[in-house]
Amino acid sequence: MDDALSNEFDIVIAGAGMVGATLACLLAESSLRIALIDRNPLVHGKDSDSPERRIDKFDPRVSAISQASQQLFRALGVWEDMISARVCNYSAMQVWDAEGTGSIDFSAAEINQPELGSIIENSIIIAALHKRIAQLENVFPITPFTIESFEYIDRDGRSIVKLHADDGQAICAPLVIAADGANSKLRGLANFECREWDYEQHALVTTVRTQRPHNNTALQRFMETGPLAFLPLRAAQEDGVQHFCSIVWSMLPDQAEWVMSLSEDAFNAELGAALESKLGVIEWSDKRFVFPLRQRHALDYVKESIVLVGDAAHTIHPLAGQGVNLGLLDAKALAEELQRGIKAGRSVADPTVLLRYQRRRKGNNLSMMWLMEGFKRLFAQQDLGVRWLRNMGMSAVDKAGPIKNQLIRKAMGLDS
Ligand SMILES: Cc1cc2nc3c(=O)[nH]c(=O)nc-3n(C[C@H](O)[C@H](O)[C@H](O)COP(=O)(O)OP(=O)(O)OC[C@H]3O[C@@H](n4cnc5c(N)ncnc54)[C@H](O)[C@@H]3O)c2cc1C
Repeated sequence: MDDALSNEFDIVIAGAGMVGATLACLLAESSLRIALIDRNPLVHGKDSDSPERRIDKFDPRVSAISQASQQLFRALGVWEDMISARVCNYSAMQVWDAEGTGSIDFSAAEINQPELGSIIENSIIIAALHKRIAQLENVFPITPFTIESFEYIDRDGRSIVKLHADDGQAICAPLVIAADGANSKLRGLANFECREWDYEQHALVTTVRTQRPHNNTALQRFMETGPLAFLPLRAAQEDGVQHFCSIVWSMLPDQAEWVMSLSEDAFNAELGAALESKLGVIEWSDKRFVFPLRQRHALDYVKESIVLVGDAAHTIHPLAGQGVNLGLLDAKALAEELQRGIKAGRSVADPTVLLRYQRRRKGNNLSMMWLMEGFKRLFAQQDLGVRWLRNMGMSAVDKAGPIKNQLIRKAMGLDS
């Protein structure tokens, strides 16, 4: 039998990260045969319920998960696994300007919600999704499969996409969904045009233990060189002690190089000062990682049987913790449109179906990206007048109930 025939599916999802894996779970509700490929093996069973998850050892990559994303995970039956591994709900957020007196305090109570969102280690989210995928009959994980190239081939008069891996494997489907992240190989191979620019900032991430408890509050201090975020972590399910935080410190590239070279004690002292000692002394910090930050948005999400979702379609500054939340909304919208199309008797690669997905998501993603860009530029301004206005503006928003509530609801994904 032709090699390609034994590897033919209705849909190939390229990338089993948080967005691709969520999409696979959503599409499993259809009768489609779905291949989920990734350059790395799936992790189910290894991590989510591991007794070896040490209470003082956290994944350096965490995500602030909105209520909308939480609802999606609940509907897919993966939320309980995340909860039983480790999730820290946060009920308040304090944002302030390093250069002045402006500040905004967000609280879940103000909008009658139990929490604003949850901080979850990425490895926990992925482990719960991969565990679910292992139970699905119509989702076929094919790993390791590192995409090398693709071509369009003819199958009974229909054009289908054939993906080639670097080790000679091949796989075919009428529709390929690129969920292969910010540096998407597929996006490049298919020549999707992107608007992109360097933020000229790097994000440093690590885990720290602080002298004072975080009280389930996320903190964000805006500096000229970039924002510093402290995201509360929960050490163990029964743990009442709240001294661990994940930090995302955005800074200029030269500064990042210098901060990376510091000893642990020197780094802890710098970090404590950068947070104005709000949580007391930084007692311990884990290994540090740095990521260059780029803003990127594909002009189109759909091109000849290839569709972009998640970071493959858009990457955004991590300052508001929205990247994966936007990607999960992409996954939900695409799954809904594909299912609607199937019910109407359309093929999965029908452009009218795919363009409906693009229309639903592009404007929404763009508006969030421009909002983040606006924040980033506003806080980089040294001009005294702008600084004064910015501080006045923050304080005014803090006092303006309806505007503030609208901002909270948008960040929670409740008004998308
Ligand atoms: C410092 C930092 C902090 C962040 N904090 C937050 C936050 O608090 N909240 C939030 O919502 N977002 C946050 N984000 C953004 C978030 O991490 C991303 O939006 C999210 O990881 C995107 O998920 P994804 O599944 O689209 O892509 P990825 O997570 O990048 O997954 C891509 C998958 O594709 C696979 N892959 C890649 N290339 C190939 C290939 N050639 N062949 C086969 N497989 C391939 C990879 O192995 C991977 O499994 C943050 C980002 C950064 C940098």
